Amino acid sequence: MTPIRRKPGRLDRLRRWTLGGLVGAIGLHLWAWYGLGWQGIGKLSFSGLASLLVGHLNAAALFCLVLGVALVFTGRLFCGWACKLSAFQELAEGVYRRVGFRPRFVHTRARAIRLFIFVPYFLPVLYTWNEVGLSTAYADLGAVQPWTADLPRTVLATVFYFASITFVLTAAFGRRAFCRLVCPFALFFQLFERLPWLPRVRQVGRCIDCDVCERACPMGISVPNEIQRAGEVLDPECIRCMVCVDVCPVKALRFGLPGSAFPIQRPDLAPVVRESAFSPLFDASLATLAVIGGVWAATQISGFHVFLGASWGLIAGLLGRSAFVAWRGKEAGCST
Ligand code: SF4
Ligand code: SF4
Repeated sequence: MTPIRRKPGRLDRLRRWTLGGLVGAIGLHLWAWYGLGWQGIGKLSFSGLASLLVGHLNAAALFCLVLGVALVFTGRLFCGWACKLSAFQELAEGVYRRVGFRPRFVHTRARAIRLFIFVPYFLPVLYTWNEVGLSTAYADLGAVQPWTADLPRTVLATVFYFASITFVLTAAFGRRAFCRLVCPFALFFQLFERLPWLPRVRQVGRCIDCDVCERACPMGISVPNEIQRAGEVLDPECIRCMVCVDVCPVKALRFGLPGSAFPIQRPDLAPVVRESAFSPLFDASLATLAVIGGVWAATQISGFHVFLGASWGLIAGLLGRSAFVAWRGKEAGCST
């Protein structure tokens, strides 16, 4: 399905400004830490979970607390509006749009590796709890340098890291490839998606089946199918970016709380199954390469690099496949 060219709508503009502000805040944080020496500023990180569990309130623990509340009341809104990797992926998409490159949207069953990626994240935490006990298992993250705790050690390595998991991965697998195929938090956040009080994209008018929303959706969700058969987008991959709300030409969509009872348009529709672009065998090979890459990077460099290794595993698999297809094509051409 061809993605549509469009100008960002009101909500999308607001979201882009929010993401831009977030990247600016990260830049300011690094500048304050390294330029001004304000190390008491603390840091924000998912690692604050351990501190939170033992009641040690540092900046990272506060971040996890706010995120937890946000997940319970807004679902994956965080992914669309407040994640730095979201911002970098959209930057990549914007650059590609400007140069006229439209990466193909590729679905693959290898997205199951997101489950595996939890392991390098949580094993050290479990190990620490086992070794030193829960009561002391927190890191005083206010005293941990951002560059050594969350980022690769040099500026060049950091640029390579983020460019790989956003620009290169997007070029290979399409929009939001990192969220769809690698990010383990996406899977964890999906656990909250069934909460009945969450605000969602809901149908408020008749859908004319033009597919504009589906082509604009960065997560590849079949929006018309979702709203026509359920009256709302229930797919747990929805990151509440609200792009679909902005683009609908007949204003059939709204983002809001449960309650707007527009009659279900097509109760007979079956849910759309996300088809993989590849055979099960190739999907398994992709997943294996990603796991090998992830384990290698996590054990050789650091746990945080599991994202980098898994991304390059996926990219290498796709490149290998393209090379094989090209070679087969050439062989066939020679033999005819
Ligand atoms: S369904 Fe709509 S709100 Fe959800 S990810 Fe797609 S475009 Fe964004
Ligand atoms: S919801 Fe709006 S944009 Fe999406 S298919 Fe229906 S009419 Fe078109």
